[in-house]
Amino acid sequence: MTGTTRGSTHSSGPYRSYVYAYPHKTAYRPLGDGPAGRPLLSDLWAAERKDALSLYAHIPFCEVRCGFCNLFTRIGAPGELTTRYLDALDRQATAVRDALGDEEPVRFAAAAFGGGTPTFLTAGELERLCDIAEKRMGADLRSVPLSVETSPSTATADRLAVLADRGTTRVSIGVQSFVEAEARAAVRPQHRSDVEAALGRIRDARIPVLNIDLIYGIEGQTEASWRTSLDAALAWRPEELYLYPLYVRPLTGLGRLGTGADAPEGPDAAWDEQRLRLYRAGRDHLLAQGYEQVSMRMFRRADAPHDGPEDYACQTDGMIGLGCGARSYTSSLHYSFDYAVEMREIRGIIDGFTATEDFSRAEVGRYVDEDETRRRHLLQSLLQARGMRRAEYRERFGSDPYDDFPAELEMFDARGWLDATARPALLRLSPEGLAHSDALGPDLFSPEVRAAMAAYEAK
Ligand code: SF4
Repeated sequence: MTGTTRGSTHSSGPYRSYVYAYPHKTAYRPLGDGPAGRPLLSDLWAAERKDALSLYAHIPFCEVRCGFCNLFTRIGAPGELTTRYLDALDRQATAVRDALGDEEPVRFAAAAFGGGTPTFLTAGELERLCDIAEKRMGADLRSVPLSVETSPSTATADRLAVLADRGTTRVSIGVQSFVEAEARAAVRPQHRSDVEAALGRIRDARIPVLNIDLIYGIEGQTEASWRTSLDAALAWRPEELYLYPLYVRPLTGLGRLGTGADAPEGPDAAWDEQRLRLYRAGRDHLLAQGYEQVSMRMFRRADAPHDGPEDYACQTDGMIGLGCGARSYTSSLHYSFDYAVEMREIRGIIDGFTATEDFSRAEVGRYVDEDETRRRHLLQSLLQARGMRRAEYRERFGSDPYDDFPAELEMFDARGWLDATARPALLRLSPEGLAHSDALGPDLFSPEVRAAMAAYEAK
């Protein structure tokens, strides 16, 4: 929901890119020419463990396009587009489930609906989406964590009732700012009263975990106005809060306006300084209010129930993505459909998806070898506040992270980003290391992934 992926700010600053999945989709490429070149899903999944899969369904529709957003989504759904999209999702789910086979147990341990805005769908369409997950894929939504993203204007009582009834355990709402002028500056105009009403409806639906997304670094935002947003969010006692630094990236609304880091008059260093200051203020405020830090962005109320996955894709289990913006992971291939940020390109890709009859092969992706798997493990564990147990890494890979990544870890150490008190059992970031997660993450990218991302042409 909150568009925060690749960075476009200067390469030495603290805000280079948000690494929530490695490798990034911009390192994916078409998987061979012609049907023969594209791997069959049944072959890809044949030797994989399938008893603790994650299911993700991507709904690429929003009512408006937020100025900072570079996620795969379009504005509105003319005609019967949502129906056609769900029809395609149904065909895809059938093909994927067939490909998983029945020789070994197939079980889903977690599910999520993201976007875009899943609640752009009507209550009836959400029922259908849950049916696809349950009846086609075999996911038992009522017995596993199910997370759903929403927005203030689409979090209506009828939709929330469906979601609660079907087993949703977590609702995440993108608020970004409770200050109306800031919401306008981030090109997401909304009235605070509408946001508050939506939060009330979510609480009324009694879904166990509420997450609120907020953004800092918006033009005109001050420490005082940031505190206003934080306190307005805290008044709802959300179980989780995500604090996102604002990024301005190519082809987004703000990118086209030429504001923020890309503005000729906007000195990067001053903006970085502002974001770091607001980050620290936000972090300290939440810690003082009884929240614990899970990662740079994620905070959890210390007394909140917790049964969901952490702030990262599980290290070893597979992921099945449905929908044209969704990724799937086997142990050796990450795959998806084509990716774009520009509206016309996105519309074309969605139209192509809805017209697809044959979903039996992977289209676009990147093979992940042993070296990349180690990087991914280190990266995703290190970006968690609790850190990485070295023994766990050694158990999985038969080597020590200091043997595999000596240069990177020495560099982090020299910058004061590693917590010396956690050694030797743990590799854990210091508070400054966590603050610099978006610089540290990209430092761990392999040269090959870096080159592929650099060669990617934004569209
Ligand atoms: S509501 Fe839609 S446009 Fe706005 S950040 Fe979320 S996905 Fe992007």
